Amino acid sequence: MSLADTNYLMDITTRPDLIFKKGEGSWLEDQHGKRYLDMLQGWAVNCLGHNPQPIIEALTTQSHLLINPSPAFYNQPMIDLAKRLCSASCFDQVFFANSGAEANEGAIKLARKWGQKHRQGAYKIISFEHAFHGRTLATMSLSGKAGWDKLFAPQVDGFPKAKYNDIDSVKALIDEQTVAVMLEPVQGEGGVIPASREFMQQLRQLTEERGILLIVDEVQTGMGRCGSLFAYQLAEIEPDIMTLGKGIGGGVPLSALLAKTSVSVFDHGDQGGTYNGNPLMTAVGVAVFDTLMADGFMDGVRERAQQLSEGLLKLSDKWGFKGERGEGLLRSLVLDGEYAPAIVEQARNRSPEGLLLNAPRPNLLRFMPALNISKEDLDFCLVCLDELIAQVRGA
Ligand SMILES: *Cc1c(COP(=O)(O)O)cnc(C)c1O
Repeated sequence: MSLADTNYLMDITTRPDLIFKKGEGSWLEDQHGKRYLDMLQGWAVNCLGHNPQPIIEALTTQSHLLINPSPAFYNQPMIDLAKRLCSASCFDQVFFANSGAEANEGAIKLARKWGQKHRQGAYKIISFEHAFHGRTLATMSLSGKAGWDKLFAPQVDGFPKAKYNDIDSVKALIDEQTVAVMLEPVQGEGGVIPASREFMQQLRQLTEERGILLIVDEVQTGMGRCGSLFAYQLAEIEPDIMTLGKGIGGGVPLSALLAKTSVSVFDHGDQGGTYNGNPLMTAVGVAVFDTLMADGFMDGVRERAQQLSEGLLKLSDKWGFKGERGEGLLRSLVLDGEYAPAIVEQARNRSPEGLLLNAPRPNLLRFMPALNISKEDLDFCLVCLDELIAQVRGA
C-alpha cells in the first residue's frame, strides 16, 4: 500500500500517513498491522462499532434480494424502518435521505412549506451560535460556526442566530417572518455542549405560544448516543420535526427527516432524491434499530456512559482540569490549556496500540465510542489518557 497516490484525492483536510485496512468492533488496523482503539467511530457514526454482524448480515441478505427499485416505488425495508422510527418516537411520518446535511435541508424546506401554508409565508428559522448542521450551502448558513458567514458568500438568507441556553436571546429574534427554532440537543461539533433540560422546555413552551415549530437536529445525538433513543426524550418534550443521521446507518449513508402529521405538509414534487429510502441502506437501518432496541442494549450504553463520565471526572480531578460534560456516550474532557491537538497526535502515535481521539477545540477532547464498547476497552482508553496527559502536559 502506497501513500504516493493520495495526490489523486482533493486535498480537503490534513490526514495522517495511515491507510486503514480493516476494523472490528472498537478496533481499527492500519497498513502496517498496528491496532488502534477507536473513540471516534467514523464521527459518532458506527454506533455498533466496526463491521458489526447485524450490518454484515443485512447488507448480504438485502443485496441478494434488491438493491434499488427507485424511489418511485415502495420497498419493504423503507416501510419497516419508517414504522419502527415512528413507533419509538413522537413522530408520524419519515422521509429518508443519505446524509445529515440532506436531512437538515429537508427540515428547512418542510418548515418553509409549513410557513407558506399556515403562517403567511414566514420562513426564518432561528438557530444558534456554534451550531453545526452540515456542509451544503443552506445548512452552512443555518450553522453558527465562526467564519462560515463569509465562506462561500453570499449565505442563504433567513437564519438569525440566538445564544444557546439563553431563552431571552431567542425571544428577541422572533418576528412575523419566524417559522421555527432549530437546535442540536447537544452541540457536538461546537464542543459537546448540552442544552439544559430547562432550556429545551422553555423552547417548547415559547414556540408553542408563538405558533412556530421546534426542530431538533439529532444527527449526532440520536439513535442511542445520549443514553436514550433520542436526546429530546431526556427533556420530556415533543418537538415538531427531527432529523437523524450518523448512527441511524451504523456506518452506511442513511439519514432521516421525521415530522408530526400536522407538519408533514410536502406536496408531490416538493421533496425527493435518487437514493431516498433505498432498500440496501434502510435494511441496514432496520438491523441497527433492532440491535439498539434489543433487551439490555440501552442499559449497557448508560453503564458505559457512567463509566466514561466517572473516569473523565477522575482524570479532571487528578490533573486539575475543568471537568467533563456531555450526555450518554457523547462526552468531552475540558483541559487546562490548548494542548488537546497534541494529545490527539500522541495518542495516535502511541505504541504498541494507538488511540484515536478528537479535539473539536484546542482545550477539549471529545469521545464518541461505539455504543457497545466493552468495559475493558473503555478502561484501557482511560489508562492511556492518563499516560498521555502526563507526557504532553508534564507533571
Ligand atoms: C454530522 C452532523 C451533521 C451533518 O451530517 P453529514 O452526514 O455530514 O451531512 C448535521 N448535524 C449535526 C448535528 C451533525 O453532527
